[in-house]
Amino acid sequence: MKKNMLITGGSGFIGSFLSEELLKRGYSVCAVDNLSTGKLENIAHLKKDPDFELVTGTIMNKDLMDDLVARAETVFHLAAAVGVRLIIERPVETIETNILGTEIIYKLVNKHKKKVIITSTSEIYGKNNEIPFKENADSVYGPTTKSRWSYACSKAIDEFLGIAYHHEKKLPLVIVRLFNTIGPRQTGAYGMVVPTFVQQALLRHPITVFGDGEQTRCFANVKDVVWAIAELAETPDAIGEVYNIGTTELISIKDLAASVKRLCNSNSEIIKVPYDKAYETGFEDMYQRKPDISKIQKLIGYEPKINLEKTIEEIIDYFKT
Ligand code: UDP
Repeated sequence: MKKNMLITGGSGFIGSFLSEELLKRGYSVCAVDNLSTGKLENIAHLKKDPDFELVTGTIMNKDLMDDLVARAETVFHLAAAVGVRLIIERPVETIETNILGTEIIYKLVNKHKKKVIITSTSEIYGKNNEIPFKENADSVYGPTTKSRWSYACSKAIDEFLGIAYHHEKKLPLVIVRLFNTIGPRQTGAYGMVVPTFVQQALLRHPITVFGDGEQTRCFANVKDVVWAIAELAETPDAIGEVYNIGTTELISIKDLAASVKRLCNSNSEIIKVPYDKAYETGFEDMYQRKPDISKIQKLIGYEPKINLEKTIEEIIDYFKT
C-alpha cells in the first residue's frame, strides 16, 4: 500500500501542483477541497490516476476531516482564504477559515499523531522593509482597522499555535512561508498580479499597475515551490522549523507590466491606478518583499530552476489554450 498524503485545498492552484509532485514521488494523494477558490479543472487530468482521490468538502467538517487525517501519513495544510481582493471583500470568511480551520487541523493531527506541513505566507513579515527577510525577522503590521493586516495576523496565529503544539505536545510539524508563487492555473480573480497582467495584455486591455509601480516582489514558479514543500516533508531535520520558499529574482511591478506586455506582443497601455481605487481607502501595500532562502538551501539544496521570463511564457500559453 502506498503512503497516503492528505492535501487540504488540493484542487487549488498550488494544491494541484503539489498533488502531481507527490504522485510522482510514489505516494497516493487525497485532495480535500470545498471548491470555493479551488477548481475541478485544476485536477481534472489527475482523476484517472488510481492513486488520486478528490473529496469535496470543507475542512470545517470535523467528522470528515477526522476520517481523512486518520488515513493519512502526512497532512499538507494548504486550504486558506487567499488573494488580497478576497481578504478585503470578505474579511470574516478570511479570518474564520484561516484560524478556525487550521485549529481543527491541529487538533486532528495531534489526536492521530500525524505529521503536518503548514503553508504560511510571506505576508507574515508585513511592512518590514529590511529585505531580504530571514525566517527570524520581525513582523511589522498596520492597525486592526485596516483589513489587509487581518490576513497576516491570522496566519501568524496559525504559526504560533503550530509551534506551541510542537513544543508542548511534540506534534511533528514543518511551517513553510510561501512568497509570491505563480504559474499556469492561477486565476487573476482574487487580485493576483501576474495572471491579471497576462490576461489584460492578451485581451489588449489596459495593464493596471497599482500605486507608483515601484513596489517589488520575487515571483517563484509553482513547480519549484512544490518540489521544495515535498522535499521538506521527506526531511526529518525540517521538523519544528520554519522555512521561506521563494526565489530571489526581484522585480518592480512597473517592470513586470513591461515584461508581460513584451512577452505577449501586446499593444496594451500601461496605466497607474491609485491604491485607494484599486483596493480600499487607506490601503497599505508591502513596498518590498524578498526572501532570504539560505536556510532551506542549506537543508535540502533548494535552488529555483525556472526563471520569471520562462514562467510568464508558461502562463501566457495557459491562457492562450
Ligand atoms: N498589483 C498591481 N496590479 C494588479 C494587481 C496587483 O499593480 O492588477 C500589485 C499589488 O498592488 C502588489 C503586487 O502587484 O503590489 C503583487 O500583488 P499580488 O496581489 O499578486 O500579491 P501580494 O504580493 O500583494 O500578496
